[in-house]
Amino acid sequence: MPSLFAKIIAGEVPAQFVFQERLWVAFMDIKPTNPGHVLLVPRAESPFISGLPEETLAALGAYAARLVAAVRQVAAADVNVVLNDGPAAGQVVPHAHFHVIPRSGGAHAPFAGHYAYRDGELERWAVRLRAAWDG
Ligand code: 5GP
Repeated sequence: MPSLFAKIIAGEVPAQFVFQERLWVAFMDIKPTNPGHVLLVPRAESPFISGLPEETLAALGAYAARLVAAVRQVAAADVNVVLNDGPAAGQVVPHAHFHVIPRSGGAHAPFAGHYAYRDGELERWAVRLRAAWDG
């Protein structure tokens, strides 16, 4: 059975994408830790990063660096990149993905609390992040 994120990638569940490339996509997290929280998600479906195809893993660094730069620029903040690799590590959606989270404050607690987007705010973040991604 396809994961929630496979359904989002297939367009069966709506999401606000920052980019959609051949091996990786990124879309807005609907329950962000902080505004501008993005999920970097491989099209290949595996619960654990170790199960992803070599080609997908080889492309990861460039996408992660470019996405972090876009989030840093738009959010004017530092950034945590977090992988919850398995349920005991906090993973809820069993499709490997990285959280890219704007941060301020300096504490080691990237998932402390949730931010509630106001109407249209998530979409406005996505527009700005797409522009920063496109450079
Ligand atoms: P995990 O705990 O698996 O590392 O993270 C899953 C993330 O997916 C959570 O931060 C959660 O807010 C996000 N999420 C859950 N359901 C949806 C959804 O339907 N759409 C989007 N865009 N994000 C979701």
